[in-house]
Amino acid sequence: MIKLSNVKNYIDGKFEINSQNLMDVISPLDGSVISNLPLSTAKDVDSAVKAAKKAFPEWSTMTFKERVQIFFRYRSLLEKNIEELTELVHLENGKTHSEARAEVEKSMELCEFAVSIPQIIVNEVQEVSKGVECRIERKPLGVVASISPFNFPNMVPHWTVPNALVLGNTMILKPSELVPLSTVRMAELLKEAGLPDGVFNIVNGGKDVVEAICDHPSIEAVSFVGSTKVAKIVYKRATSTLKRCVALGGAKNHLLVLPDANPEMTASNVVASMSGCAGQRCMAASVMVGVDKVQHIIDRMIDEAKKIVPGQNLGSVISAEAKTRIEGYIDEAERNGAKILLDGRNTTVKGKEGGYYVGPTIIDYVTTDMSVAREEIFGPVISIIRAKDLDEAIEIENGSNYGNAAAVFTQSGGLAKQVIERASAGMIGVNIGVPVPREPFSFGGWNESKFGVGDITGRSSIEFWTQNKKTTIKWNPEAKTNWMS
Ligand code: NAD
Repeated sequence: MIKLSNVKNYIDGKFEINSQNLMDVISPLDGSVISNLPLSTAKDVDSAVKAAKKAFPEWSTMTFKERVQIFFRYRSLLEKNIEELTELVHLENGKTHSEARAEVEKSMELCEFAVSIPQIIVNEVQEVSKGVECRIERKPLGVVASISPFNFPNMVPHWTVPNALVLGNTMILKPSELVPLSTVRMAELLKEAGLPDGVFNIVNGGKDVVEAICDHPSIEAVSFVGSTKVAKIVYKRATSTLKRCVALGGAKNHLLVLPDANPEMTASNVVASMSGCAGQRCMAASVMVGVDKVQHIIDRMIDEAKKIVPGQNLGSVISAEAKTRIEGYIDEAERNGAKILLDGRNTTVKGKEGGYYVGPTIIDYVTTDMSVAREEIFGPVISIIRAKDLDEAIEIENGSNYGNAAAVFTQSGGLAKQVIERASAGMIGVNIGVPVPREPFSFGGWNESKFGVGDITGRSSIEFWTQNKKTTIKWNPEAKTNWMS
């Protein structure tokens, strides 16, 4: 059993607490209070920015090699401490141990990309005219910020922190107030790996901290991951103070299932996609569009989903409010004439009666006007919409305001290609239910699933966390040349 202490801010290499305004951290597994955190203010953000500003000159002028060494060591520390980090994610977020472990493993993979950045960004140099050379170098922005959601307490901060720091920025992280424990260990392990004080800072809290980050004149860039409602607020507020911003929002991912799809593989993929992490993934399947005759696949999906046992291979949802919201969507669909094929409402787990569990839920005969077809539910629920052909299925997918992921299940290359071409989403899967691009490919959606230019990970993030310096040098100043001399 790991020992949990109360959460503090991490500023200039020290854990400190200024606010007396504390909030409980509740484990959704059983509803127990496991810690508390300070609801910080603009003053705390300012202290963190001052520390990050002070650390910037030395950190940004270190060689890539020196900065990367710290992240090699840090990645090893993640591996060494994986059992404890897994337990923390499990406790604060409620996902199963195997899901929590996979999340930490993904954080290690993200560090592997970060340490490879020096191999990717070899600067460009060209002799553009006789004796005249142009070169482009990537330079860090300065103090930057990252704001994260509850659903991946360990992994989402690793989408941004390693890359931004390896590239020479210093940073303020604002974790979700629902899951602040994993990032405490992140700070401790970064320090153990040799990260200088002030390079990485954490300010805990909610809306006030986010607003102070958006407004602070010395923060150059903000990356945000969370719901679309808040992504819009953050994008507008951060850019109104002339910051660079990328804000990833919510999702409503459609899986198009064609009658020729492999029934077993499709059923298990669709069910794993809708129920993994209790449906609280921005890449989770939320709508299955069944094209023509797919009843045999739906029947198998029900069999697959019945194998899922809440509290064993299905974790909890994040809070009592989340459980109420998810069950409310199912109630509404039922009232509006949809058919509940598998009902996860009123689920409890023996010995964990205070936890927030929703069982896997499959809703059939959903129509496009229903809220379960249009809104993000963020729970282990899939809505099935029937379509007569592929054109109608693609039209349904295109009708969503979101655009994170879409997938097609078929054995026909030609039909899959049509979906790849015509789906309105940033990440497409063919016979895969959770099409997360792995590094060096970048992660990011379209439409209301992302605001701002570029993606949040991979090569695209290198652009986001740096600015180009263009230098033109005449190496033989004595030479007679009429080229802009
Ligand atoms: P959220 O939007 O409620 O919170 C995200 C962050 O914003 C938190 O740090 C929170 O403290 C802060 N926040 C909340 N309300 C705010 C407000 N009014 N003003 C300023 N800041 C505010 O999201 P969540 O519930 O923590 O996470 C789930 C959501 O995140 C889902 O919609 C999911 O799809 C999305 N998500 C998207 C991606 C992606 O890559 N697109 C990845 C993970 C999660």
